[in-house]
Amino acid sequence: MSTPIPATLIPGDGIGPEIMDATLAVLDALGLSFDWDVQQAGAAGVKAAGDPLPQAALDSIRRTRLALKGPLETPSGGGYRSSNVRLREEFKLYANLRPARTIIPGKRYDNIDLVVVRENVEGLYMGYEHFIPIDGDPHAVGMSTGINTRQGCRRILEYAFDYAIATGRKKVTVVHKANIMKALTGIFLETARDLYLEKRYHGRVQMGEIIVDACAMKLVQDPWQFDVLVTTNLFGDILSDLVAGLVGGLGMAPGANIGADAAIFEAVHGSAPDIAGKGIANPIALLLAAAMMLDHLKLSEQATRLRKAIDDTLNVDQVRTGDLGGSANTKGFTQALVSRIRNG
Ligand code: NAD
Repeated sequence: MSTPIPATLIPGDGIGPEIMDATLAVLDALGLSFDWDVQQAGAAGVKAAGDPLPQAALDSIRRTRLALKGPLETPSGGGYRSSNVRLREEFKLYANLRPARTIIPGKRYDNIDLVVVRENVEGLYMGYEHFIPIDGDPHAVGMSTGINTRQGCRRILEYAFDYAIATGRKKVTVVHKANIMKALTGIFLETARDLYLEKRYHGRVQMGEIIVDACAMKLVQDPWQFDVLVTTNLFGDILSDLVAGLVGGLGMAPGANIGADAAIFEAVHGSAPDIAGKGIANPIALLLAAAMMLDHLKLSEQATRLRKAIDDTLNVDQVRTGDLGGSANTKGFTQALVSRIRNG
Protein backbone atom coordinates (compact mmCIF):
# COMPACT_ATOMS: atom_id res chain seq x y z
CA MET A 1 0.00 0.00 0.00
CA SER A 2 1.43 3.39 -0.98
CA THR A 3 1.72 6.30 1.47
CA PRO A 4 -1.63 8.10 1.85
CA ILE A 5 -1.76 11.43 0.00
CA PRO A 6 -2.28 14.37 2.41
CA ALA A 7 -5.26 16.50 1.37
CA THR A 8 -7.90 18.76 2.89
CA LEU A 9 -11.53 17.70 2.66
CA ILE A 10 -14.30 20.26 2.96
CA PRO A 11 -17.71 18.52 2.75
CA GLY A 12 -19.49 21.86 2.36
CA ASP A 13 -23.15 22.84 2.72
CA GLY A 14 -26.49 21.51 1.49
CA ILE A 15 -25.93 18.48 -0.75
CA GLY A 16 -22.15 18.79 -0.16
CA PRO A 17 -21.81 16.03 2.47
CA GLU A 18 -24.02 13.67 0.40
CA ILE A 19 -21.99 13.99 -2.81
CA MET A 20 -18.72 13.97 -0.84
CA ASP A 21 -19.62 10.62 0.76
CA ALA A 22 -20.26 9.26 -2.73
CA THR A 23 -16.92 10.58 -3.98
CA LEU A 24 -14.96 9.14 -1.06
CA ALA A 25 -16.53 5.71 -1.62
CA VAL A 26 -15.51 5.85 -5.28
CA LEU A 27 -11.92 6.97 -4.57
CA ASP A 28 -11.71 4.09 -2.12
CA ALA A 29 -12.95 1.65 -4.78
CA LEU A 30 -10.18 2.90 -7.06
CA GLY A 31 -7.72 1.72 -4.43
CA LEU A 32 -6.51 5.23 -3.65
CA SER A 33 -5.47 6.18 -0.18
CA PHE A 34 -5.75 9.77 1.07
CA ASP A 35 -4.90 11.21 4.44
CA TRP A 36 -7.90 13.54 4.63
CA ASP A 37 -7.90 16.49 6.98
CA VAL A 38 -11.64 17.23 7.28
CA GLN A 39 -12.46 20.93 7.68
CA GLN A 40 -15.64 23.00 7.64
CA ALA A 41 -16.38 26.20 5.72
CA GLY A 42 -19.40 28.14 4.40
CA ALA A 43 -22.56 27.87 6.52
CA ALA A 44 -21.09 24.73 8.14
CA GLY A 45 -18.03 26.81 9.09
CA VAL A 46 -20.26 29.45 10.68
CA LYS A 47 -22.07 26.74 12.64
CA ALA A 48 -18.90 24.95 13.75
CA ALA A 49 -16.50 27.84 14.35
CA GLY A 50 -18.48 31.07 13.88
CA ASP A 51 -16.62 31.80 10.63
CA PRO A 52 -17.47 30.93 6.98
CA LEU A 53 -13.75 30.34 6.41
CA PRO A 54 -12.23 29.24 9.71
CA GLN A 55 -8.50 29.68 10.26
CA ALA A 56 -8.15 25.90 10.74
CA ALA A 57 -9.41 25.30 7.18
CA LEU A 58 -6.94 27.85 5.79
CA ASP A 59 -4.08 26.35 7.80
CA SER A 60 -4.97 22.89 6.58
CA ILE A 61 -4.91 23.89 2.89
CA ARG A 62 -1.68 25.81 3.43
CA ARG A 63 -0.17 22.58 4.76
CA THR A 64 -1.59 20.08 2.23
CA ARG A 65 -1.72 22.45 -0.78
CA LEU A 66 -4.56 20.27 -2.06
CA ALA A 67 -8.28 20.29 -1.32
CA LEU A 68 -11.44 18.56 -2.45
CA LYS A 69 -14.33 20.83 -1.62
CA GLY A 70 -18.13 20.60 -1.58
CA PRO A 71 -20.28 23.63 -2.42
CA LEU A 72 -20.34 26.46 0.12
CA GLU A 73 -23.39 28.60 0.75
CA THR A 74 -23.08 32.36 0.24
CA PRO A 75 -25.94 34.65 1.26
CA SER A 76 -27.11 36.87 -1.63
CA GLY A 77 -27.08 40.64 -1.13
CA GLY A 78 -25.98 41.22 2.48
CA GLY A 79 -24.17 38.81 4.80
CA TYR A 80 -20.67 37.42 4.61
CA ARG A 81 -18.45 37.48 1.52
CA SER A 82 -18.17 34.29 -0.54
CA SER A 83 -15.74 31.82 1.06
CA ASN A 84 -15.01 30.52 -2.44
CA VAL A 85 -13.82 33.95 -3.55
CA ARG A 86 -11.78 34.32 -0.35
CA LEU A 87 -10.13 30.93 -0.91
CA ARG A 88 -9.17 31.93 -4.46
CA GLU A 89 -7.63 35.15 -3.15
CA GLU A 90 -5.91 33.56 -0.15
CA PHE A 91 -4.17 30.88 -2.23
CA LYS A 92 -3.84 32.94 -5.42
CA LEU A 93 -5.88 30.35 -7.33
CA TYR A 94 -5.67 32.35 -10.51
CA ALA A 95 -6.78 29.66 -12.98
CA ASN A 96 -10.24 28.16 -12.94
CA LEU A 97 -10.47 25.23 -15.30
CA ARG A 98 -13.92 24.05 -16.29
CA PRO A 99 -14.07 21.24 -18.85
CA ALA A 100 -17.35 20.25 -20.51
CA ARG A 101 -17.70 16.96 -22.33
CA THR A 102 -20.81 15.15 -23.60
CA ILE A 103 -21.15 12.08 -21.43
CA ILE A 104 -24.69 11.05 -22.33
CA PRO A 105 -25.10 10.98 -26.12
CA GLY A 106 -28.42 11.67 -27.81
CA LYS A 107 -29.33 14.70 -25.73
CA ARG A 108 -29.17 18.26 -27.07
CA TYR A 109 -25.48 18.31 -28.06
CA ASP A 110 -23.34 15.30 -28.93
CA ASN A 111 -19.55 15.22 -29.07
CA ILE A 112 -18.91 18.37 -27.07
CA ASP A 113 -15.42 18.49 -25.63
CA LEU A 114 -14.29 21.95 -24.64
CA VAL A 115 -12.66 23.71 -21.74
CA VAL A 116 -13.28 27.14 -20.28
CA VAL A 117 -10.21 28.66 -18.61
CA ARG A 118 -11.42 31.47 -16.40
CA GLU A 119 -9.26 34.12 -14.76
CA ASN A 120 -10.15 33.61 -11.14
CA VAL A 121 -8.84 36.44 -8.95
CA GLU A 122 -9.13 39.73 -10.83
CA GLY A 123 -11.79 41.51 -12.87
CA LEU A 124 -15.19 42.33 -11.45
CA TYR A 125 -14.82 39.81 -8.62
CA MET A 126 -12.39 41.88 -6.58
CA GLY A 127 -15.22 43.10 -4.38
CA TYR A 128 -14.49 46.82 -4.72
CA GLU A 129 -18.14 47.66 -4.35
CA HIS A 130 -20.05 50.42 -2.68
CA PHE A 131 -23.30 52.31 -2.62
CA ILE A 132 -23.75 56.06 -2.99
CA PRO A 133 -26.54 57.57 -0.89
CA ILE A 134 -28.76 60.19 -2.50
CA ASP A 135 -31.76 61.97 -0.99
CA GLY A 136 -31.95 59.68 2.05
CA ASP A 137 -31.78 56.50 0.00
CA PRO A 138 -28.56 54.83 1.25
CA HIS A 139 -28.49 52.52 -1.78
CA ALA A 140 -29.47 55.01 -4.48
CA VAL A 141 -26.46 54.05 -6.63
CA GLY A 142 -24.56 50.74 -6.65
CA MET A 143 -20.98 50.71 -7.93
CA SER A 144 -18.43 48.02 -8.69
CA THR A 145 -14.85 48.48 -9.85
CA GLY A 146 -13.13 45.75 -11.86
CA ILE A 147 -9.36 45.45 -12.07
CA ASN A 148 -7.33 43.44 -14.56
CA THR A 149 -3.55 43.72 -14.47
CA ARG A 150 -1.24 42.98 -17.37
CA GLN A 151 0.62 40.52 -15.16
CA GLY A 152 -2.62 38.77 -14.18
CA CYS A 153 -3.77 38.60 -17.81
CA ARG A 154 -0.45 37.21 -18.94
CA ARG A 155 -0.45 34.58 -16.19
CA ILE A 156 -3.88 33.17 -17.13
CA LEU A 157 -3.26 33.40 -20.88
CA GLU A 158 0.03 31.54 -20.54
CA TYR A 159 -1.76 28.96 -18.41
CA ALA A 160 -4.41 28.48 -21.13
CA PHE A 161 -1.90 28.18 -23.97
CA ASP A 162 0.37 25.82 -22.02
CA TYR A 163 -2.64 23.74 -20.94
CA ALA A 164 -3.87 23.51 -24.55
CA ILE A 165 -0.48 22.33 -25.78
CA ALA A 166 0.01 19.87 -22.90
CA THR A 167 -3.41 18.27 -23.49
CA GLY A 168 -3.15 18.13 -27.28
CA ARG A 169 -5.77 20.76 -28.00
CA LYS A 170 -5.67 22.76 -31.21
CA LYS A 171 -7.09 26.20 -30.54
CA VAL A 172 -7.36 28.79 -27.78
CA THR A 173 -10.10 31.40 -28.23
CA VAL A 174 -9.68 34.64 -26.30
CA VAL A 175 -13.10 35.91 -25.15
CA HIS A 176 -13.38 39.63 -24.38
CA LYS A 177 -15.53 42.76 -24.56
CA ALA A 178 -12.72 45.10 -25.61
CA ASN A 179 -15.03 47.06 -27.91
CA ILE A 180 -16.92 48.48 -24.89
CA MET A 181 -14.79 47.86 -21.78
CA LYS A 182 -11.67 49.11 -23.51
CA ALA A 183 -9.51 49.22 -20.41
CA LEU A 184 -10.84 46.34 -18.30
CA THR A 185 -10.98 43.74 -21.04
CA GLY A 186 -8.94 45.62 -23.66
CA ILE A 187 -5.83 44.84 -21.62
CA PHE A 188 -6.73 41.15 -21.71
CA LEU A 189 -7.00 41.08 -25.51
CA GLU A 190 -3.90 43.23 -25.97
CA THR A 191 -1.88 40.94 -23.68
CA ALA A 192 -3.10 37.88 -25.58
CA ARG A 193 -2.05 39.36 -28.90
CA ASP A 194 1.36 40.37 -27.51
CA LEU A 195 1.90 36.95 -26.01
CA TYR A 196 0.99 35.20 -29.24
CA LEU A 197 3.24 37.53 -31.23
CA GLU A 198 6.17 36.49 -29.06
CA LYS A 199 5.92 33.30 -31.14
CA ARG A 200 6.29 30.89 -28.23
CA TYR A 201 2.93 29.40 -29.17
CA HIS A 202 3.08 29.86 -32.94
CA GLY A 203 2.70 26.61 -34.87
CA ARG A 204 1.87 24.76 -31.66
CA VAL A 205 -1.65 26.04 -31.05
CA GLN A 206 -3.96 28.45 -32.88
CA MET A 207 -5.32 31.60 -31.29
CA GLY A 208 -8.80 33.01 -32.01
CA GLU A 209 -10.59 36.10 -30.66
CA ILE A 210 -14.29 36.64 -30.04
CA ILE A 211 -16.52 39.19 -28.27
CA VAL A 212 -18.32 37.60 -25.32
CA ASP A 213 -21.90 38.18 -26.53
CA ALA A 214 -21.15 36.65 -29.93
CA CYS A 215 -19.39 33.81 -28.14
CA ALA A 216 -22.50 33.07 -26.06
CA MET A 217 -24.61 32.86 -29.24
CA LYS A 218 -22.10 30.70 -31.12
CA LEU A 219 -21.73 28.36 -28.17
CA VAL A 220 -25.44 27.64 -28.49
CA GLN A 221 -25.51 27.49 -32.31
CA ASP A 222 -22.25 25.70 -33.04
CA PRO A 223 -20.19 24.83 -29.96
CA TRP A 224 -18.01 22.38 -31.91
CA GLN A 225 -16.01 25.29 -33.38
CA PHE A 226 -14.47 25.91 -29.93
CA ASP A 227 -11.75 24.01 -28.15
CA VAL A 228 -10.22 26.00 -25.25
CA LEU A 229 -11.85 29.31 -24.29
CA VAL A 230 -9.89 31.71 -22.09
CA THR A 231 -11.51 34.75 -20.54
CA THR A 232 -11.77 37.18 -17.66
CA ASN A 233 -13.45 36.38 -14.37
CA LEU A 234 -17.13 37.32 -14.79
CA PHE A 235 -17.39 36.25 -18.44
CA GLY A 236 -15.76 32.96 -17.50
CA ASP A 237 -18.25 32.42 -14.71
CA ILE A 238 -21.20 32.93 -17.04
CA LEU A 239 -19.83 31.07 -20.06
CA SER A 240 -18.79 28.03 -18.05
CA ASP A 241 -22.35 27.63 -16.77
CA LEU A 242 -23.59 27.99 -20.35
CA VAL A 243 -21.15 25.31 -21.46
CA ALA A 244 -22.23 23.08 -18.56
CA GLY A 245 -25.78 23.45 -19.88
CA LEU A 246 -24.69 22.06 -23.25
CA VAL A 247 -23.59 18.78 -21.68
CA GLY A 248 -26.36 18.04 -19.22
CA GLY A 249 -26.37 20.83 -16.68
CA LEU A 250 -24.59 21.77 -13.51
CA GLY A 251 -24.79 18.24 -12.10
CA MET A 252 -22.15 17.23 -14.68
CA ALA A 253 -19.72 20.18 -14.42
CA PRO A 254 -16.44 19.95 -12.49
CA GLY A 255 -14.01 22.75 -11.75
CA ALA A 256 -10.38 23.07 -10.71
CA ASN A 257 -8.93 26.16 -9.06
CA ILE A 258 -5.19 26.16 -9.61
CA GLY A 259 -2.62 28.53 -8.19
CA ALA A 260 0.96 28.82 -7.16
CA ASP A 261 0.22 27.92 -3.53
CA ALA A 262 -2.52 25.29 -3.76
CA ALA A 263 -5.10 23.55 -5.93
CA ILE A 264 -8.76 23.16 -4.97
CA PHE A 265 -11.14 20.85 -6.81
CA GLU A 266 -14.91 21.23 -6.67
CA ALA A 267 -18.22 20.84 -8.45
CA VAL A 268 -19.31 23.96 -10.33
CA HIS A 269 -22.83 23.79 -8.89
CA GLY A 270 -23.92 25.19 -5.54
CA SER A 271 -25.30 23.63 -2.38
CA ALA A 272 -28.73 22.96 -3.99
CA PRO A 273 -30.73 23.77 -0.83
CA ASP A 274 -33.96 22.72 -2.59
CA ILE A 275 -32.88 19.04 -2.64
CA ALA A 276 -30.43 18.94 0.29
CA GLY A 277 -30.99 16.06 2.71
CA LYS A 278 -33.21 14.13 0.26
CA GLY A 279 -30.43 11.81 -0.91
CA ILE A 280 -31.17 12.46 -4.58
CA ALA A 281 -28.27 14.74 -5.63
CA ASN A 282 -26.20 13.82 -8.65
CA PRO A 283 -22.59 13.32 -7.45
CA ILE A 284 -21.04 13.31 -10.97
CA ALA A 285 -19.74 16.90 -10.94
CA LEU A 286 -17.76 16.29 -7.75
CA LEU A 287 -16.62 12.88 -9.04
CA LEU A 288 -15.33 14.52 -12.22
CA ALA A 289 -13.62 17.15 -10.07
CA ALA A 290 -11.97 14.28 -8.18
CA ALA A 291 -10.81 12.91 -11.57
CA MET A 292 -9.24 16.31 -12.30
CA MET A 293 -7.55 16.12 -8.90
CA LEU A 294 -6.12 12.71 -9.84
CA ASP A 295 -4.79 14.20 -13.12
CA HIS A 296 -3.20 16.98 -11.05
CA LEU A 297 -1.57 14.32 -8.85
CA LYS A 298 -0.31 12.58 -12.01
CA LEU A 299 -2.57 9.63 -11.26
CA SER A 300 -3.87 9.69 -14.81
CA GLU A 301 -4.56 5.99 -15.06
CA GLN A 302 -6.98 6.13 -12.13
CA ALA A 303 -8.49 9.37 -13.48
CA THR A 304 -9.19 7.67 -16.80
CA ARG A 305 -10.65 4.62 -15.06
CA LEU A 306 -12.96 6.85 -13.05
CA ARG A 307 -14.19 8.79 -16.10
CA LYS A 308 -14.78 5.58 -18.05
CA ALA A 309 -16.66 4.00 -15.15
CA ILE A 310 -18.92 7.08 -14.95
CA ASP A 311 -19.59 6.87 -18.71
CA ASP A 312 -20.39 3.15 -18.47
CA THR A 313 -22.62 3.50 -15.42
CA LEU A 314 -24.66 6.15 -17.22
CA ASN A 315 -24.71 4.69 -20.72
CA VAL A 316 -24.21 0.91 -20.43
CA ASP A 317 -25.86 0.28 -17.06
CA GLN A 318 -28.30 3.15 -17.65
CA VAL A 319 -28.16 4.13 -13.98
CA ARG A 320 -28.90 7.86 -13.65
CA THR A 321 -30.09 10.29 -11.02
CA GLY A 322 -33.34 12.25 -11.34
CA ASP A 323 -31.79 15.41 -12.80
CA LEU A 324 -30.64 13.23 -15.74
CA GLY A 325 -34.08 11.67 -16.19
CA GLY A 326 -33.24 8.52 -14.22
CA SER A 327 -34.65 7.07 -11.01
CA ALA A 328 -31.48 6.34 -9.00
CA ASN A 329 -30.79 8.18 -5.79
CA THR A 330 -27.27 9.26 -4.79
CA LYS A 331 -26.52 6.00 -2.97
CA GLY A 332 -27.91 3.83 -5.79
CA PHE A 333 -25.83 5.63 -8.40
CA THR A 334 -22.73 5.40 -6.20
CA GLN A 335 -23.20 1.65 -5.64
CA ALA A 336 -23.56 1.09 -9.39
CA LEU A 337 -20.42 3.14 -10.07
CA VAL A 338 -18.42 1.31 -7.39
CA SER A 339 -19.48 -2.05 -8.91
CA ARG A 340 -18.39 -0.82 -12.34
CA ILE A 341 -14.98 0.13 -10.93
CA ARG A 342 -14.56 -3.13 -9.02
CA ASN A 343 -15.76 -5.37 -11.86
CA GLY A 344 -14.12 -3.41 -14.71
P1 NAD B 1 -27.27 25.54 -7.18
O1 NAD B 1 -26.22 25.11 -8.15
O2 NAD B 1 -27.07 25.11 -5.78
O3 NAD B 1 -28.69 24.98 -7.66
C1 NAD B 1 -29.31 25.30 -8.90
C2 NAD B 1 -30.27 24.20 -9.31
O4 NAD B 1 -29.55 23.04 -9.73
C3 NAD B 1 -31.16 23.72 -8.16
O5 NAD B 1 -32.44 23.41 -8.65
C4 NAD B 1 -30.47 22.47 -7.67
O6 NAD B 1 -31.35 21.52 -7.07
C5 NAD B 1 -29.86 21.91 -8.95
N1 NAD B 1 -28.62 21.17 -8.69
C6 NAD B 1 -27.39 21.71 -8.38
N2 NAD B 1 -26.52 20.73 -8.18
C7 NAD B 1 -27.17 19.57 -8.36
C8 NAD B 1 -26.77 18.20 -8.27
N3 NAD B 1 -25.51 17.85 -7.97
N4 NAD B 1 -27.71 17.24 -8.48
C9 NAD B 1 -28.97 17.58 -8.79
N5 NAD B 1 -29.40 18.86 -8.92
C10 NAD B 1 -28.51 19.84 -8.68
O7 NAD B 1 -27.40 27.12 -7.28
P2 NAD B 1 -28.10 28.17 -6.32
O8 NAD B 1 -29.41 27.60 -5.83
O9 NAD B 1 -28.09 29.43 -7.06
O10 NAD B 1 -27.11 28.32 -5.09
C11 NAD B 1 -27.31 27.71 -3.81
C12 NAD B 1 -26.16 28.10 -2.89
O11 NAD B 1 -24.91 27.57 -3.40
C13 NAD B 1 -25.95 29.62 -2.76
O12 NAD B 1 -25.68 29.91 -1.41
C14 NAD B 1 -24.73 29.89 -3.63
O13 NAD B 1 -23.99 31.01 -3.20
C15 NAD B 1 -23.93 28.62 -3.45
N6 NAD B 1 -22.99 28.31 -4.55
C16 NAD B 1 -21.79 27.77 -4.21
C17 NAD B 1 -20.89 27.41 -5.20
C18 NAD B 1 -19.58 26.79 -4.79
O14 NAD B 1 -19.34 26.56 -3.62
N7 NAD B 1 -18.67 26.52 -5.72
C19 NAD B 1 -21.21 27.57 -6.55
C20 NAD B 1 -22.47 28.10 -6.87
C21 NAD B 1 -23.36 28.48 -5.86
